[in-house]
Amino acid sequence: QPVPQQVALTITDLSFTYPGQPQPALTGINLTVSPGEHIAILGRTGCGKSTLLQLITRAWDPDSGSLRLNDSALKDLDEAALRATMSVVTQRVHLFSATLRDNLLLANPQASDAQLSEALTRTGLEKLLDDAGLNAWLGEGGRQLSGGELRRLAIARALLHDAPLMLLDEPTEGLDAETEGQILDLLTEVTQGKTVLLVTHRLKGLSRFSRIIVMDNGQIIEQGNHANL
Ligand code: ATP
Ligand code: MG
Repeated sequence: QPVPQQVALTITDLSFTYPGQPQPALTGINLTVSPGEHIAILGRTGCGKSTLLQLITRAWDPDSGSLRLNDSALKDLDEAALRATMSVVTQRVHLFSATLRDNLLLANPQASDAQLSEALTRTGLEKLLDDAGLNAWLGEGGRQLSGGELRRLAIARALLHDAPLMLLDEPTEGLDAETEGQILDLLTEVTQGKTVLLVTHRLKGLSRFSRIIVMDNGQIIEQGNHANL
């Protein structure tokens, strides 16, 4: 299946309950996202934000309703097309006990060393190259990364993956205000022309988004832009 250049996302009457849970995590979600639109998803803890992103990555099957990417049902995409269509930055970034190179290559096994170094430079991580370059050992038995560095690494992976749909779950959680500002600037730069869904608790930087969606208790309760919410 070909990988689209631009992605529209259409979610219709989506409901989902985690296995064994009495209450649904999502109820009757309807959302249409145009190609290149940047959407922020807000809502208090446990309201279903990460779950919504996970259903878009097909980590779970919905109880009812449908998800479509452009003209295809999400469930009909083959695995390769699905992976190539979306870049995901999860809430908890995983660092592998492996070289810096291998920690990046998992986002794009074809990337050259020059491309890996460029992604590190763009995300402000060039100092990770100081000691052993891309051969630097990370994780257990090697260098641990700070919270901010881990976030940047996740964004470097997303850059290397370079998919038309970006799903970002709290990419600035736990960062100081200055680092948060830098990461938001970087994201604004690298998401030009892409369709973006970004989950956040923060009200800072929301004017960058074309639309803001507020969730509560598994539902979308409000939509608007920075000016009218
Ligand atoms: P936060 O802002 O804290 O990240 P969230 O809006 O992302 O919260 P979700 O992680 O989507 O919330 O969780 C929604 C609900 O589903 C919560 O009640 C949570 O406890 C529950 N939940 C999440 N993951 C699972 C799981 N794997 N199994 C069962 N219940 C889950
Ligand atoms: Mg979450």
